[in-house]
Amino acid sequence: MKKVILALGLLCPGILAAQQEVFDYFIKNATVYDGTGAAGAKRSVGIRNDKVAYVGLDTLMEAKHTIDGTGYVLSPGFIDPHTHADRWLKDDNTKYLYPWIAQGVTTVFVGSDGFGTYEINKEFNLYEQKGMGANVAAFVGFGPIRSRVLGNDVVQPDKADLEEMKLLVEQGMQEGALGLSTGLLYVPQIWSETPEIIELSKVAAKYGGIYDTHMRSESGNIINSVREVISIGQTAALPVHISHIKVSGMDNWGRSTEVIDLINKERAAGLDITANQYPFVASLTGLKNGLLPKWALAGGNAKMVNRLSDPNDLKKIKTFLKKRTDEQNKRVVISSLDKKIQHLNGKSLYDLCQEWKMPIEEVGVKLLKEHPAVSGMSFSMDEQDIISFSKEPWVMTGSDGGGFHPRTYATFTQIVENFCMAKEIFPLEWAIHRATGMTAKKFKIPSRGEIKEGYYADIILFKPEEVKAHSDLVNIDYLSEGMRYVFVNGEPVIAERDFTKELPGKTIKKAQ
Ligand SMILES: [Zn+2]
Repeated sequence: MKKVILALGLLCPGILAAQQEVFDYFIKNATVYDGTGAAGAKRSVGIRNDKVAYVGLDTLMEAKHTIDGTGYVLSPGFIDPHTHADRWLKDDNTKYLYPWIAQGVTTVFVGSDGFGTYEINKEFNLYEQKGMGANVAAFVGFGPIRSRVLGNDVVQPDKADLEEMKLLVEQGMQEGALGLSTGLLYVPQIWSETPEIIELSKVAAKYGGIYDTHMRSESGNIINSVREVISIGQTAALPVHISHIKVSGMDNWGRSTEVIDLINKERAAGLDITANQYPFVASLTGLKNGLLPKWALAGGNAKMVNRLSDPNDLKKIKTFLKKRTDEQNKRVVISSLDKKIQHLNGKSLYDLCQEWKMPIEEVGVKLLKEHPAVSGMSFSMDEQDIISFSKEPWVMTGSDGGGFHPRTYATFTQIVENFCMAKEIFPLEWAIHRATGMTAKKFKIPSRGEIKEGYYADIILFKPEEVKAHSDLVNIDYLSEGMRYVFVNGEPVIAERDFTKELPGKTIKKAQ
């Protein structure tokens, strides 16, 4: 009897240890790009629960599922630092985030362009209740804060207003926001002046956060806008990040050189300034922002629509619209997720003038009166500027996805398929780094963005030559192709190229 007990005693720890060793998934013999920018190396990777439990040379390990990774690239899942996936996450049909996971994206940031709430916990609870196809991190947005304290009209804050706004930024930061986000093209943020933003950024700085911005101008006034970002970074003493960096408008084509020189000078002087970018020559935003004079936007959509019926305002708006050239009107194309207006998708303002037999001022007014939130693509960028920005070591991949635009469906795949493989602008390790390790580090995302033992198992497995971006500026809502496996927190959301319909995403709070 004693012997048996002894034997069992010897056996049990052994059995326990062996069970401990069993991985949920073991991907053997893949070429691992670890996200740090290092070249690929042949490795096997073990996943247990939601973490990477092994990275090494062994190819024989016990696992519930073994995947032969021979000939495949294994890398961290992509992190998308600028999205409008907020709305997707609140809808049971879209919370899977298929357009993103089909590209290999395993984490999205929301609250971009200053649109995000300061009630991060409440927002995160909502997402968690529904479940998420990918992980979610959030910015605290300037828009709702200014709107709550000052409304949407042209107003400047007094001291008490500013204190009230600072408290709301503080709430967002305490609840785990990555930093303060602004979209200075949009009402009511458009009315703010730099010192106000600096005061709010100081609160983000206190919590180790970042200042992330859609700049005031991405066209004629771009240099001043970059200077504003720089002064915010310097004065509030925090890292700054320019979202969807671009130069818009034919008159400005080629000016990426000026922007790059300015940013490189400040980086050399010690400022932590970076940017993200999507690789398409057309942008997408509310049509009103490009069509109307600033004053006509004050107060929000309802007030804008009132102005479109007010004889005095209407006269001024029409005079403003009349200045648009045919060439400009050909470059703006309706592209809206709104079902009521989707029959107009793909048509330019010029096309609508022809079709409706109306001059541009009538077309503009009709569109905005009937559909104040209609969005449009603006074919305003030059490919060469996009390439020039993409080569800079401080530029990351960021989709700005969410709307009816290929950037929602094919940003990361375009970078791999086109910029890396076809055009050879940068090697694969860089295409991966600028979408994983670089992003995680800049935004203080804990334990993600690298393939490392103890890190979360956000992992993708693909062959670069099979990665295809099917969405383009004409055929928009086509998912990308090429991911064999996409793991989010150790659970596949794509397995052998099929969606699993699982929702293993987690909300992520900034590392302290
Ligand atoms: Zn934006």
